[in-house]
Amino acid sequence: MSGTASDPRSERLLLEPEEILARQAYEIPRVRLPARGSLFAGRAARLRRLAQGHTLADYLGFVAAVAEAQQACLLALSDPPLPPAEKQEQNREFGMPVLNALTLHRDPVWRAILRDLLARLVQLDLPAELKATLERFAGQSDDYFEAQASKLLASNLQGLNVAVAPLLAAALQVYWVAMATALGEEAFPQLPIPNVCPCCGTRPTASVARIGAAEAGYRYLHCALCATEWHMVRVKCANCESTKDIYYQSIDDGRPGREHAIKAECCDACNTYLKVLYMERDAEMEACADDLASITLDVLVSETGRPGSGVNYMLVQGNSGTP
Ligand SMILES: [Zn+2]
Ligand SMILES: [Zn+2]
Repeated sequence: MSGTASDPRSERLLLEPEEILARQAYEIPRVRLPARGSLFAGRAARLRRLAQGHTLADYLGFVAAVAEAQQACLLALSDPPLPPAEKQEQNREFGMPVLNALTLHRDPVWRAILRDLLARLVQLDLPAELKATLERFAGQSDDYFEAQASKLLASNLQGLNVAVAPLLAAALQVYWVAMATALGEEAFPQLPIPNVCPCCGTRPTASVARIGAAEAGYRYLHCALCATEWHMVRVKCANCESTKDIYYQSIDDGRPGREHAIKAECCDACNTYLKVLYMERDAEMEACADDLASITLDVLVSETGRPGSGVNYMLVQGNSGTP
């Protein structure tokens, strides 16, 4: 039955433009998972450098200490239990993130990570008041932690204790990074919704125009929870996907060689903005750290009545609640 007719595909030597685009999309690393062994250590080092002479030096220094504790917790952790294979497959089939932050049944191991993290931080040389806050938080019940985590991940600020939310988020980040890296890139197909993380469905902190052989010039969105990065073309709103009426605002921070290394990509269609970090101007940039340290840009843009679409769990704003 094997026919002798030539394969029709071999007769076409030229590729259609759509095919070229499809091939390019295939060749660009679509998803970049974080490096489990160095993500938080790198973030901490970057924060320590950015803290020097910064008006927020104390806070950046504290977030650096949290990131160092996160790295220690992650290194001490073996692979956490993953959602059952059939559940993962079901999510893929329905175009849902495999490790969906809103629906995943969290394993209690994340609370062990939180207690480990708090125990490491309490040992540091911190102001007495901060230490007391950490100890009070560490004394909370499992139910309290679970309820707070659900609020945080759902961006529900009602009753969320924002003072300690970054610590809660820090433990959840370790947990999600451990799960994502255990599964590997192949586990996360492209989602029909391109503006949330293909791994966990969380919104990005910022976007990064990368350098490096395979990714030079390509823009990636950086997940606020699991630090996975996913490709999105440039000059496109990361919130509503509009490609019209996009413009940029930036501040020259006076450091030679890195002028306008960070810009706010503003969209008139949905009236939001998200920062773009240009690594060609500063190769050391790290999304979470540089987003925090460039808060003056947020102040500048928000003065125009435009809210940011990015999420940075190290700076949770909203209603306060006491534990
Ligand atoms: Zn994610
Ligand atoms: Zn938009």
